Amino acid sequence: MSGPGRCPACDEPALAPWCIVPGSDPALPGDYALERCAHCASAVTLEPVPPEAHEAGAYGGGAPRGSGLAAPLLRRFDRRRLTFLARAGARPPGRLLDIGAGRGRFVAQAHAAGWEAAGIEPSRRGIAGALAQGIEIEQAGIDDATVRDGSLDAATLWHVLEHLDDPGAALARIAGWLAPGGHLLVGVPNLASVQATLGAGRWYHLDVPRHRTHFTVAGLHALLRRHGLEPVATHHVLAEHNPFGLWVSVVSRATRTPSWLYHALKRNAPLRSRDALVTAAALPLVPAAVAAELAFALARRGGTVAVVARRE
Ligand SMILES: [Zn+2]
Repeated sequence: MSGPGRCPACDEPALAPWCIVPGSDPALPGDYALERCAHCASAVTLEPVPPEAHEAGAYGGGAPRGSGLAAPLLRRFDRRRLTFLARAGARPPGRLLDIGAGRGRFVAQAHAAGWEAAGIEPSRRGIAGALAQGIEIEQAGIDDATVRDGSLDAATLWHVLEHLDDPGAALARIAGWLAPGGHLLVGVPNLASVQATLGAGRWYHLDVPRHRTHFTVAGLHALLRRHGLEPVATHHVLAEHNPFGLWVSVVSRATRTPSWLYHALKRNAPLRSRDALVTAAALPLVPAAVAAELAFALARRGGTVAVVARRE
């Protein structure tokens, strides 16, 4: 018999059966087993990700409802990412690569801030969206991207690492692309958050089976260090994902569709449903959720984290 599996985050042979959770997207039904690491408390999704998962359901494409209204807010979040890099000493001019660039919104923002910015993105949908806005992005994954070793001053990996089956192999490659002293910004959901506990199998940021590794800060730091990337700053207060994640995770305990509002905005759940009434009834809880999440984040238990690491 083989012993416990190795944790993809901290690399200790400490994985043990943890729980079985429902698919987080109505398009990806079924039950998924998770194992948790006894050493760093990160977790892994055991079943392989269905091949169509990143093109289906909430990831199916098309502009989300209300995306015009959200655009100024999203640009603010993008500037915040640039601020995290700048505070750690990563400022333009220099070469920045956004890995998993989607439709290229952040690449455009980094370019406007003075970076020589480029992006890579595996999905055709993202590339088409970027081209439509005049942003050049290479259609490639981390495995097959053509980036010269030591050529980057900064790289961003924003809610990408948790989607990879082998996050260590990805970081090894990215560390090679960075020049010594270059910086990597990583954003991931935080399994050690209060909202992960409250949401349990219906936590908004669980996104099973698309999310393969469910990191804790301890697990993410260990993974970065193992690849010569020294964490220099860890941010817990993140308006981009955290307050919404807490509120939706709590409401999700009472809706039929997990994270109904998110899926309705992504045109992936019917607007007219009982879930709409439940969600509307929970709207007065939004200010309390914002305040509570801020308190949790200040206690380093916010729903997601952002880490800036420097290549040694
Ligand atoms: Zn671990």
